[in-house]
Order: sequence, then C-alpha cells, then structure tokens
Amino acid sequence: MDVLEKAFELLSKYPLCDHCLGRQFALLGYSMENNVRGSSLKISLTLQATDLAKEKNLDGVKQLKVLATNGFSREAQETLKHLKKRIPKALEEKCYLCEGKFEHLNSLIEKSLAAIDGYEFTTFLVGIEVPIKVEEREDEFKGTFNLGYSEGIKHEFGRLFGKVLAERTGKTADYLIPDLVVVINPFRENARLQVNPLFVGGRYRKLVRDIPQSKWFCSNCRGRGCDKCGGTGKLYPESVEELTSNVLLEAAEGQKTLFHASGREDIDARMLGTGRPFVIEVSEPKKRSIDLKEIKEKINVGAVGKVEVSKLRFATKDVVRHLKKGEGAQKEYRLLAEFENPFSDEDLKMLEEKLTGATIKQQTPIRVMHRRADLIRERYIYKLKVKKVSLKRALLEIRCQGGLYVKELVSGDEGRTIPNVSDLLNNRAKTLKLDVLKIIMDD
Ligand SMILES: [Zn+2]
Ligand SMILES: [Zn+2]
Repeated sequence: MDVLEKAFELLSKYPLCDHCLGRQFALLGYSMENNVRGSSLKISLTLQATDLAKEKNLDGVKQLKVLATNGFSREAQETLKHLKKRIPKALEEKCYLCEGKFEHLNSLIEKSLAAIDGYEFTTFLVGIEVPIKVEEREDEFKGTFNLGYSEGIKHEFGRLFGKVLAERTGKTADYLIPDLVVVINPFRENARLQVNPLFVGGRYRKLVRDIPQSKWFCSNCRGRGCDKCGGTGKLYPESVEELTSNVLLEAAEGQKTLFHASGREDIDARMLGTGRPFVIEVSEPKKRSIDLKEIKEKINVGAVGKVEVSKLRFATKDVVRHLKKGEGAQKEYRLLAEFENPFSDEDLKMLEEKLTGATIKQQTPIRVMHRRADLIRERYIYKLKVKKVSLKRALLEIRCQGGLYVKELVSGDEGRTIPNVSDLLNNRAKTLKLDVLKIIMDD
C-alpha cells in the first residue's frame, strides 16, 4: 500500500478531519497522535500537489482542491491562493466519520471534571458511548477502503480523554476496578459519572438476643409506617445492619448501603466468639479514605452492649462473593435445651455418641418455609458435647457444617429432621437459648 495514495483516495471520497484520517493509519509509526498522522499526510499531499501544479500538471490543482475542501487543509487553501486559483466551496462542512466531534474535546473535558467534582477517588476509567450508526458507518468505511491499520473511533476518544483526565486530576486509569467511571458521549456532548461502591468488611458480634441481622420491615405496611409498627415501618427498632451501616454511610457520604454477611443467626440467637464475617457496601460514596479505626470506635460506642465490630478493612466485590460461598463454613453453636421429662447421664452419653460424626437429613424447617424452598439437605455434625445443667435442662455444644438448623436438630421439627435429639431420647426437647460461638472461615 502506498500510504499517500491511500490517504488521497479516502479524501477524494469523504471529508475527513486530521483525527479521522490519521486514525486509519494508527498502527503505523509510534509516539504520535492520530491528528498528527492526519495533518502530516495532508501536508505531504499538499507538497506533492504543489510540485505537480508548478509543472503545469492539472492533477496538482485538482489535488489541492480536494485537500482544501474534504481535507479542511488551511495549507492547501493558502497554496491555491498563491497559485491564483479559485478556492472551491466545501460541499460538506463536517468530517464524515466524527461529524467534527474531535473539535469539542476541551469542552467535554471540562464537563467531565465538573461531574467528578466533589468525589474522592484514586483510580478512574473512561467509558465512551457513540451512536450505533457512527460505529456502523466507520466499519463500512474500513471495509470499503480495505483499511488494515486503523483504530476504532471509540478507542481513540477513550485514549485521548483518559490521557487528559489523568493529567488534569493526577489520578491513574484502572481497567479492572476503578473508583469512578466517566462515561462520555462525544456525539451528545455530555459526560456522566458512574461511582463504584465502597466495600468495608469485618466481623460482628451480637451480644444480645432479639436484634435481627438486617433491617426488618413491618409486614403490615412494608416500611411505610402504620399503627401496628408505631409509624416506624419496622418490626424491630434496631438491627445489626443499621447499627453498623449508618456510621459508615455517614462517613463515606454515600447514597445507601447494602449489608452482606456469611449466613445469619436467628433473631433470638447471640453471635459470640470472633464474630460473623460481613461486608457493607456503600453506594456512590463521596469519601473513600475514611479512617476505619475511628469508624470501628464509633460503631462500638453507639451500639455498646448490643453489637460489636472488629477487623474492619477495605474489601472488594470478590470478598462479598467469597462470603456468600462461605455460608456453608463450619459453625459452632451452644444451645440450652429443655426436655419434657428428666434424663439420665447415660442418655446424654448416648446422644454424644450417636450424633458425633452423624449426617443429618433435614427438610426445610416449618418456621422458615415461607421464605425458603422446601427441600431435603444433608449436613454433617463434627462433634457434639452435652452437659447436664439441671434435671430437665442440658447445654449442647455442636460443631457442624454450616446450614444445619440446630433448633430443629433438637425438636425434630415433626419428623422433618432425622435423626434428632427428641426422637433419640424419646423425650421431647426444645431450645431455650442459642448462641453462635464460632464461624470457621478465612475472610
Ligand atoms: Zn473526524
Ligand atoms: Zn407498619
């Protein structure tokens, strides 16, 4: 391919700005922008054409006229003037491929900077949106002229905006998990912002009973507030979610939060030991460099005696995925059971022997059936230890696979959990108190 000949062929058919002409040869030569490629080609063609014109070759003037119109070349226009030739009026005033949008780079940079103003970030990414017809037109153009060295228009816009925004903000581009995505549409001449969430992970302990893990809307009014819930819209006044998330939401100046945890304990169960892994997701945060030590203090003072967080650290969406997968991690429970009739020491020994190492077949408990699919699952018990507390009461320590409903292991849930404590002793038992002691997973 003769590069100059090819460039002239393109210009003879379509008006092209420096960027769009140069972009068709983007893979040739390094360390220059497409507009430099484009204007260099136009200048070279102007020199060539002037040479021909001076030799009285009519093609020279013809070529200069193409450069002066379709090439928007000031140099070609000036040359025609010197040669005392008429400067023809351009048929099209705009570049065929970009419709002149590369001329508006600066105003779009200003719009982008205005959009990100007020947001703290360290990494960003530029996303480019163009109308489908623009991309189709360019594809067709490339096909028609058999152009093998070109770069796509979106790619060039993205590169140019990314470079300038990096310079202007002093931040770096990140293609994987940027804090901000600046979405620019050069054809609509607008820029909008996509702010990626902030994730903070940790572990929580729930020191009291009767606090749900997540905000629990009133079933009567679904959060609007009614007489039944005293106008609060909630069934429980507080939750682990609210006691922890609100502090973070305020510090990060975000829009709202999502609470992710690895499983959940019953409302009436405490969560003790080293706590349960969780991640709070803050959407559209304005601040990211928040002091987690300070936030931990604030949460723990505000929720004193009720909820306590530890090991706060910045996390990612991947950690949330890992949490959800970890719902089946090993758990340790302590449970106070009450039996209908007195039991013997032998009874308790038998329980330990029968249930340690046992696989439990468990059909979805009646009490959660309204929100869980009805199916039978198998869960393993690694160890069961039983201690007599009084004539009819015993303390059970159970280490098992996550997902086992331990209250039903005790009651039998009308035969839906097999084997179970009540049936093994032929003595109906129920749970009085339940604590989660340990969740074994690396977070
Ligand atoms: Zn153009
Ligand atoms: Zn209500």
